[in-house]
Amino acid sequence: MSKSVQIIGSGFASLSAACYLANAGYSVDIYEKNATVGGRARRLSKEGFTFDMGPSWYWMPDIFEKFFADFQKLPSDYYHLDKLDPAYKIFFADDTITIGDSMEKICEEFERIEPGSARVLRKFIAKAQKNYDIAINKIVYRPGLSPLELITPETAMRVNQFFSTIKKEVRRSFKNPKLVATLEFPVLFLGAKPSNTPAFYSFMNYADFGLGTWHPRGGMYEVILGMKRLAEELGVRIHCNSPAEEIGVTNGKAAYINVNGEKKTADFTLRGADYHHTETLLEPSYRQYSEGYWDKKTFAPSTLLFYVGFDTRLKGMEHHSLFFDTDFEAHARAIYDEPKWPDKPLFYASFPSKTDSSMAPEGCEAGLFLIPIAPDLEDTPALREMYFQKMMLRFEKHLGSSVKNNIIFKESFCVKDFVSEYNSYKGNAYGMANILTQTAFMRPGLRSKKVSNLYFTGQLTVPGPGVPPSLISGKLAAELIVKAS
Ligand SMILES: Cc1cc2nc3c(=O)[nH]c(=O)nc-3n(C[C@H](O)[C@H](O)[C@H](O)COP(=O)(O)OP(=O)(O)OC[C@H]3O[C@@H](n4cnc5c(N)ncnc54)[C@H](O)[C@@H]3O)c2cc1C
Repeated sequence: MSKSVQIIGSGFASLSAACYLANAGYSVDIYEKNATVGGRARRLSKEGFTFDMGPSWYWMPDIFEKFFADFQKLPSDYYHLDKLDPAYKIFFADDTITIGDSMEKICEEFERIEPGSARVLRKFIAKAQKNYDIAINKIVYRPGLSPLELITPETAMRVNQFFSTIKKEVRRSFKNPKLVATLEFPVLFLGAKPSNTPAFYSFMNYADFGLGTWHPRGGMYEVILGMKRLAEELGVRIHCNSPAEEIGVTNGKAAYINVNGEKKTADFTLRGADYHHTETLLEPSYRQYSEGYWDKKTFAPSTLLFYVGFDTRLKGMEHHSLFFDTDFEAHARAIYDEPKWPDKPLFYASFPSKTDSSMAPEGCEAGLFLIPIAPDLEDTPALREMYFQKMMLRFEKHLGSSVKNNIIFKESFCVKDFVSEYNSYKGNAYGMANILTQTAFMRPGLRSKKVSNLYFTGQLTVPGPGVPPSLISGKLAAELIVKAS
């Protein structure tokens, strides 16, 4: 008889693991607490508008291709991708930078800002591309079981890049503050400040400028739906409205999970829900990490999000628009050093209806607004509204017109929702930051050290935050289970 696996949660990592395990012949059940699958990548549909509630940037298309290729499939078997041009636009206080869909266009824009910078940029991106090849081909598909995984002839030659930072690396090559901000932006996806992120992670710059920004038609949720379909084609059973409330352990093995009052049993239990939360489902003696451990970790930010339906088109905005018109350092301090609500936050806005007419009714615009904030901050309706107003003031300035009266509706999502919807530790949005001391084998492990058939996957473990790493994490956890069987 085939061995069985029960998976807690249905985010990208869980769906990925489910596909690999079902493909390897396991009988797989997914238990998801919410009414729909997708985790942080769920979809909000309202009055003809469609919003991705979490991820909206489709980067590293090669990782998605590798995932589907493992099942002899292509991403295009499940969703349609468009390469965005421009990829995104950054609004500074006195100018904008538009990032096109090719190095030629990006170099032209750099030259406009700082003559001579295109040559330096090409050199910088060539180095970033080498790092990308090493990271993807030699490092990230390793399970984080040993420090030796990080040691390859290629990384040994670049050891200095692990002890220098992106901030130093970028500033060594570029002086113009706008170009510096543009090149420091991609590592924000890793959840930490550029001054705390190893220089080796410049591979994110290659992901940005070299591989481009893509949009799955219909939004990122189409990727979730594609993976769900693949999982079901492979035989996975998905149970929504099914929260795991307890993991029962007998003789050092996960014997059952308690779902809606029923004990579900399987040979292996894999949790894709937030790591800290899952450990609290175990008796304290079976938890691997103390409350003190979690409290000392550097978490990636939480976010204040708004999903806004506008009854008009917004001229001058792009599909992805970044508002870097205030002091980045001050905002970063308020996230990482002295956690508090930032005075003048940077923010990000996405208007997918700019390039995809299915995202909003005709003549309207769907707007997602995101302010990164420290996890665990006070979260009240009054604070959310105050920040919406602050953001709108600056947004309208860049837009050149008032659109407050064009808002049909707005919904918000913040710290309290991350906790109640996803059981997120302190309401983090992106998991745990990828700083040097929280890389690879130094992250919470894929395999429990105390419960022999309990495994973990997702953005809190190896390799880290983001959709592509979550796909990889699911694969790594599945491989460990197959190995242990
Ligand atoms: C606002 C936001 C913007 C982002 N933007 C991007 C982006 O543009 N590009 C990008 O690549 N990444 C982005 N990310 C990061 C990316 O979304 C995540 O890294 C990824 O989706 C995490 O997937 P996961 O499978 O690890 O976890 P999750 O998606 O959190 O899935 C965990 C699942 O477990 C479920 N669960 C929790 N407790 C239980 C329980 N007791 N029983 C059953 N189920 C349970 C949850 O409901 C959830 O469905 C963003 C994240 C957020 C929040």
